[in-house]
This record gives sequence, structure tokens and C-alpha cells, in this order.
Amino acid sequence: MGYLTQLGAITTALLASATPSSGASASSSTAKNVICACRKLSNVLPKDIIYPGSANYTDEATDSYWDKRAALAPSCIVVPNSADEVATAVEAISSCNAPFAVRGGGHMNVVGSNNINNGVLIGLTKLNQVKVNADTVEVGPALTWYDVYAALEPYGRVAIGGRLKTIGVPGLTLIGGYHYFNNKYGFAMDNVDSYDVVLGNGTQVTATRSSHPDLFWALKGGGGNNFGVVTKLVLRTYPAPQVSTTIQAFNESAVPGFLAAVCDAAKLNSPDPIAAGMVATVSYNVSSGVTSASLLGVQEGVSNPPDQFANFSSISSFAINNVTNMKDWAGQFETPKQQFRIQFAHRTIKADAAVLTSLYESWKESLSEVLDVEGLGPTFVANVISPTSVRVGNNNGVGNIWGLPEEPLIIWQFSTSWSLARDDRRMQNWARTVVERLHAQNKRKGVASEYIYMGDAGDWQDAFAGMPKKNVARLKRVQAAYDPERVFTRLSTGGFKLT
Ligand SMILES: Cc1cc2nc3c(=O)[nH]c(=O)nc-3n(C[C@H](O)[C@H](O)[C@H](O)COP(=O)(O)OP(=O)(O)OC[C@H]3O[C@@H](n4cnc5c(N)ncnc54)[C@H](O)[C@@H]3O)c2cc1C
Repeated sequence: MGYLTQLGAITTALLASATPSSGASASSSTAKNVICACRKLSNVLPKDIIYPGSANYTDEATDSYWDKRAALAPSCIVVPNSADEVATAVEAISSCNAPFAVRGGGHMNVVGSNNINNGVLIGLTKLNQVKVNADTVEVGPALTWYDVYAALEPYGRVAIGGRLKTIGVPGLTLIGGYHYFNNKYGFAMDNVDSYDVVLGNGTQVTATRSSHPDLFWALKGGGGNNFGVVTKLVLRTYPAPQVSTTIQAFNESAVPGFLAAVCDAAKLNSPDPIAAGMVATVSYNVSSGVTSASLLGVQEGVSNPPDQFANFSSISSFAINNVTNMKDWAGQFETPKQQFRIQFAHRTIKADAAVLTSLYESWKESLSEVLDVEGLGPTFVANVISPTSVRVGNNNGVGNIWGLPEEPLIIWQFSTSWSLARDDRRMQNWARTVVERLHAQNKRKGVASEYIYMGDAGDWQDAFAGMPKKNVARLKRVQAAYDPERVFTRLSTGGFKLT
């Protein structure tokens, strides 16, 4: 019954925070709605509710988030044990009209996308089921990609998911999903056979190619929590008992050649591609003022060194090549939570080495504006979209909401970390101003694409604006059919919203 005391304290705090002037009725009614939801949850799921001050509150509200900025202060947190309990929670929250957020792996660094102040957080921590079938794997939304690769490793199979260790399964899959093997198997979203979803009124549906096909399509890139809470995904798996890997490091003079090799990879267009892809990063050393580039490359099979990276290997670099498996490879790349504050921002271009190099040079130059920021850690990241990766979705009879053309594209991204909250606004303004200025230049030159990836975007960016209008219109029809009360946009407002 300890929760009753905590609920009393929260009631007092929430009502005190409601301003008595013009906004009084709205904010005090919101506060009352939150109290209503927390109280209902305490009644219907008494073992799954966590209040500020409880033992697990910090684990759920702070330690589960990658970006320090994403740690907020929910009024109460519900941690369901099953899909049925998620349904009970959503029903309780929506019946009280209370604001809420949903968290999977907690990696999205858009503040408020996965956590909330003065509202209810649904933490999916306990939905960690995994079941391996012959050519699929059934996974719960608590899993990281490392968990998935580890479960599949004894069977010599891989799923198409995150490239590093601790990224969450649900967020990445619902926004699209870049993996090393996109060029052969498409994006993570193209490899989902089934989604179990709790809708805004608490009902549960399974969306597949043949059951609720519109919702099935909408979940392929339609973003986190725009339609419901996903409680299980069935992912296709592929044989890859071994992978050939390369880690390469390049000094500053090699960066233009490195970026040209990235563009070459985007242009590969074989009808029968060898699965291979990378993480390509240029880092700036704030102490020395010098840049360097790094490649993490993975290819299916055992060719050692992996021959799909010959364009990189021909540039002078330091390289370590290995043959391993996806579990051991991904296991090396932990992305620790709560390490720094960090801003992503990105735009997209047609794969053109000269343009990419000039963007890199502009990024390096613009760093002079923020070099005094404490704990600055700037990187320039390039992600590849090849025609073959897009073709998978275009040809599978379902498609996805990106609706991309089959042409080589590069996502160029600023990923910038820093230490102190006082610099949050400044770093966001800097990233926004520079990225949007460079994008405007690219548009004038005719080399820009309007495509935006939610996983690499800044808070201000509208990912839906870059999608084909007919896809957005169809998404809105799906939203109207499956969430007529707009629970997932009216009550859950953070992140990339279909409004
Ligand atoms: C270090 C790092 C590395 C990354 N590497 C990659 C990469 O290799 N490939 C790639 O494609 N992207 C990558 N990303 C981007 C990543 O895909 C997104 O941050 C993604 O949102 C992470 O998923 P998550 O479950 O951790 O997200 P969360 O932050 O938990 O959630 C993201 C959004 O999805 C919603 N959501 C989460 N779970 C559910 C659910 N079950 N039902 C409904 N909505 C839900 C949340 O409410 C939120 O709006 C990386 C990000 C980081 C920080």
C-alpha cells in the first residue's frame, strides 16, 4: 500500500504545479487526468506501477535512456508483464485522457519521444520474450539487437536490425532500420512479418500481410507510437553463420577518399548483391583540431578481407580484418546510456563524392562556432541507401512508407555530444542552423533529397514532410481507422508525430 502514500504526494505536487491564471483549467485538468491514470493503474496493475522515490524509478526514468537530456520525471511509470497488461494500461490511461509516453530501448535522442514530465510512462522493460523459429524470430519490445543476434547465433542466422549492441528493437524497426545487410535484404521494417499491437482503446490486433494489411504497411516506417503499442514482432531471419568484418582507421588527408568510397557503396546496383554494409564516421579531435575517419564494415560469408570494401582498403589506412559472427561483432559496440547530452541532425543528398566532401568541410569549418562548449564531441556520419536496398520493399508486394526512388542516396548527419545542460539550446541551434543552411544550398544545386530518417534526425525535423504525399495521406487514413480518438497523437505528443 506504499503506493497510496506516494500517490498522495504526487497529487499534491501535480495540483500545485497547475497555474492559477489563464491556463488554469487546461493544466489543472491535465494534472487531474494524470492523477486519475496513476490511481487507476495502481488499482488494476498494482505490482507494475512505480512512483518517484520507488526503488526502480531511476532505472526506468533515467538509466534506461541513451541521451542524458531524455531523462525526465514521469508522475508514475507502468511496467507491464504482458501484452494483456499493456492493453490494461493503455485503456486506463486513455480513459483518463492522461498524457503518456512509451519507451522501448530508449535510444531515440529526441527529448519527449520516449519519456515524459508530468505524465505516465509505459516502460516495456519486461516484455523480453524471444522465440526462434525456422526462418523467423519472435521478439518482445524490451530486447536490444544484441539480444536478438545472441538468440540467433546458435542457429547460424541473423535478423536485419541495429548495427551496434544496445539499440532497442522496437524503435529502430518502427522507424525503418539501417543494418549492414540492407543492400540485400532491405531495411529492418521490410523484414517484419507480423506486429502485435495494442490500440488506443486497449484492444489488441495482429497486423500481417493478410490481417489488418493497412496497419501492417503503416507500421513499416510510420514511426514509433503513432498507431499503438507494439508488444511483439515476428522478424524474418537469414543464414549467416559467419560474417567477415573490417575495422579501418583513416587520417585526415584520406577523408575525401573515404567519403568517395562511401558514395561508391551507395551506387552498387547488382541484381544479386552480396550483403555488405558499414558504419562510416568522421570524428573531430577537439584538442588537436584534426579529423580522422573510421569504417566498421560487415559482409556475409568468410572472404577475408571482405572484398566489398576494396574501395576503402585501397586507401592508406590502419585495418583489422576478422571472420566472426554477428553476435560477437555487435557485442563489441556498446553504446552506454546516460553518458552525454547529444544532438543528431541530418539531411539527404544524391550520392555525389564532391558534394559529400564539401559538406564535411563545411561541418569542420562550422565547428569553430562551438569549440568552447564543454565536453564537445563532434562526428560527421554518412549512411548509405543503395538502389538494391530500396528495391526489396518496392518488390515485396507491401512496400513501406518511405516510398524512396531506387537511386543512390547518402544521409549526412551531424552527431554532436557535450556535457552541460546550459549548452542544450546553443547546440540545438547550431546543428539546426548549419544543417538547414547546407541543405538549402544542396537544394539550389539540385543534389538534395527531402527524405529524413527519424533515427538520425533532430527534434525540429519533420520526417513526414519528406515522405510521398500519397503515403502520408494513406497513413492518416490508417490512423483514423485504428486510432479514431487519436490517443497516440493527442495524449502522446512527443517525437515524430503524424498530425
Ligand atoms: C548510438 C546509436 C546507434 C544507432 N544505430 C542505429 C543503426 O544502426 N540503425 C538504425 O536504423 N538506427 C540506429 N539508431 C537510431 C535508432 O534506430 C533510434 O534511436 C531508435 O528509436 C531506437 O530504438 P529504441 O527502441 O531504442 O527507441 P526508443 O527511444 O525506446 O523509442 C523510439 C520511439 O519509438 C516509440 N516506441 C518504442 N517502442 C515502441 C513500441 N513497442 N510500440 C510503439 N512505439 C514504440 C517510442 O515511443 C519513441 O517514440 C541509433 C541510435 C543511437 C543513439
